[in-house]
Amino acid sequence: MARDPDLVQKGFGLKAAVAGELAADYRSRLIEALRGRQGLLDLGPIKFHLAEEFGFCYGVDRAIDYAYEARRHFPDKTIYVTNEIIHNPFVNNRLREMGFRFFEDGHSISSIGEDDIVLLPAFGATVEQIDEIKKKRAVIVDTTCGSVMNVWKRVEYYGRDGYTSIVHGKHYHEETIATVSRALSEGGHYLVARNEPEAQMVIDYILGVGLDREAFLEKFGPVSSEGFDPDIHLEKIGVANQTTMLANESAKISVMLGAAVLKRDGHSENFREFDTICSATQDRQDAILKLGNRHPLDVILVIGGYNSSNTAHLCKIAGKFAPAYHIDGPEAILSGESIQHLEHGAAETVVATNWRPDNKPLRLGVTSGASTPNSIVAEVFSKVAALYGLDPMSFIGPEEGLEIVEV
Ligand code: SF4
Repeated sequence: MARDPDLVQKGFGLKAAVAGELAADYRSRLIEALRGRQGLLDLGPIKFHLAEEFGFCYGVDRAIDYAYEARRHFPDKTIYVTNEIIHNPFVNNRLREMGFRFFEDGHSISSIGEDDIVLLPAFGATVEQIDEIKKKRAVIVDTTCGSVMNVWKRVEYYGRDGYTSIVHGKHYHEETIATVSRALSEGGHYLVARNEPEAQMVIDYILGVGLDREAFLEKFGPVSSEGFDPDIHLEKIGVANQTTMLANESAKISVMLGAAVLKRDGHSENFREFDTICSATQDRQDAILKLGNRHPLDVILVIGGYNSSNTAHLCKIAGKFAPAYHIDGPEAILSGESIQHLEHGAAETVVATNWRPDNKPLRLGVTSGASTPNSIVAEVFSKVAALYGLDPMSFIGPEEGLEIVEV
């Protein structure tokens, strides 16, 4: 795949040329200044505590950089994006403004002409989709994150060796859909387990103490490969995961499944595992744990797109320490009393009241998902500070945060 001349898996040598534009669109002097203050911004009536690791991960940084470079390199060409490039509405809309055409806006593979460019998002695309796009002879700019590709390699290897991939993930998430397509492409099977209770059902079946075959297929048929037979395809299993799941839950599921196979067989030859949580996800999850353990907080705001899996998981962790709200940007703060947010696992946002306790100073924890621009985080700071009649930038020195923004 990498030798295909129409498949570009790197930038166009324009990193420096687009750096200013990227900084203007997504960076924030306020947030960069906070990095130099251990994340603390004390405005008096409100104390912001920003997590040590937050926001754009290396995969997202790279995907957006490639998109901007592609636009610059092909100024007159039509560029399609097969999905959201990342799970952040602000970034996707910015690309729309730059002329990118998204499949989710009604375009499709049939829209592509051979002079066009097709951008694959950071979480990749399925084997079939890529094959179909290649037939169009368009240039493909592949921004798939290397950490996602590592999972694919693992799953392909399981498939080649006759192991069924048990993927800890969300079966409808684009990354997981792309991942399981790799198992199929190697003639393998897969089953997606969303969480520990679902993994336990698989374990119970392996040990012969759970659902009967029919009930098992009813439960897992829709999230497993066609022709999946639990009596055959749970004999040899390999574990993988969507890169943005809760790291400790993935690790636990892997240990549980390994122990079940060992108990059933008396050996571990029929079990394979590999930690496929990406380091950026791990770092952000560790950082919110650290923030919560280190500082007493009244509220935590977790900022990211509502379809961002890693943001949802950060919010779940944050909720152990204080009321935590997953919001997608400053507009979610409706007033000093009410906030629009997404509860964990819910499909629709709800409005919570009295989100801001009136003790002073308010101790507010903040973090953001791997696809959230710092500019959005800064707008949330400003919106919250405005509730107190304050401007956070007036608390930042004239030189603070400048060196990083001016790329
Ligand atoms: S969250 Fe991890 S796997 Fe996903 S794009 Fe970022 S670095 Fe890559």
